[in-house]
Amino acid sequence: MAHEHPMSRLGGWEGYVVERDSVEQRGTQSWCVIQLSPIQGRWRCCGGCGERTQAVHDVQERRVRDLPVFEHIVELVVPRIRVACPRCGPKLERLTWLEPYARVTRRLADSVARLCQVASILHVARFFHLHWSTVKELDRLYLERTLGPVDLEGLQVIGLDEFAIQKGHRYATVIVEPTRKRVLWVGRGRGREDVRPFFELLGPARCQQLRAAVMDMNAGYELEVKRHCPQADIVFDLFHVVAKYGREVIDRVRVDRANELRADKPARRVVKGARWLLLKNRNSLAPEQDIQLKELLAANRALFVVHVLRDALKDLWSYRHPGDAERAWRSWYAKARRSRIEPLKRFAANLKPYLPGILAHCRYPLGTNLIEGINNKIKVIKRMAYGFRDDAYFFLKIRAAFPGKP
Ligand SMILES: [Zn+2]
Repeated sequence: MAHEHPMSRLGGWEGYVVERDSVEQRGTQSWCVIQLSPIQGRWRCCGGCGERTQAVHDVQERRVRDLPVFEHIVELVVPRIRVACPRCGPKLERLTWLEPYARVTRRLADSVARLCQVASILHVARFFHLHWSTVKELDRLYLERTLGPVDLEGLQVIGLDEFAIQKGHRYATVIVEPTRKRVLWVGRGRGREDVRPFFELLGPARCQQLRAAVMDMNAGYELEVKRHCPQADIVFDLFHVVAKYGREVIDRVRVDRANELRADKPARRVVKGARWLLLKNRNSLAPEQDIQLKELLAANRALFVVHVLRDALKDLWSYRHPGDAERAWRSWYAKARRSRIEPLKRFAANLKPYLPGILAHCRYPLGTNLIEGINNKIKVIKRMAYGFRDDAYFFLKIRAAFPGKP
């Protein structure tokens, strides 16, 4: 081994040595092309059965990308051996560093997938000088391999939520295990029949073990849950009820108030522009925003009432004893009905039939902000996956983002 090429040891291409290397310019990029040659007389492993043999059937040259070295893109020229296996016949040799028919080495594939966890496909493609579709495919294979099938044993509580794939056009449903912060399933659509495959996957025995399902009170999921899991409690989550209150009550009252103030231009502008201020959590406001809000509420009675009752509505989810929660509800409901504010009275009347689902949360004290967290994370994933329309890959990314606590 006196004349061994130094790259042979650095490269770690098991079963091969470097015959020669050359640097060439292709466009603006510098490429290092490394010609490998198989070590002679070596025992080789059959890719089918794993049997070791020295018999070579034939050799075919393949070009394979490896990790970059300094400023060079690295391309390997690999004479790929097909062994003559006594059991399987001609079969590709099994290599630790190169999958059969792969165009990149295993370590390059792993690096691409690792970078895909924090950067967009486009950025990863530019970084490694790979085609966009190659990067996506490598990430998809990696996610499929590492995530594996979902473990549905012992499942007691699930949460269901919808999200938009393309705003106003296509929707999907995500099903989570709130206690372990784990995404169990993602599927296209948001209708009753769209979530049926999940319950079929769960199977009758595990369906009967389910104790509760948390969801948005407007979703079509309730009937499907009741059909497969009649014993499970339906629980309505805080996030969706408060979001609905924001849209149907606070927004409505604010717009009505702005219309009333037509004569008073400056006051009207303040009310019109206060949407964010009114919907935001009070404790996340900056001191000067808090003062702004106080002034706004002091000058507009209806806004003051609906703002106070929003916080009281949120409080319903903080009770751990159903009796306390029910008393708080009765007090809230009476105030809303007496308020003489039409959108608020309407909201309270519409909410009343859902009371059992609201009080049920007392028995299942779950982190209700999980649904909100998943919602936000999905938006980020959508942005990073900019430019593709591949549901299966998108859903894998969502699962990978919430693998669950062990
Ligand atoms: Zn074999």
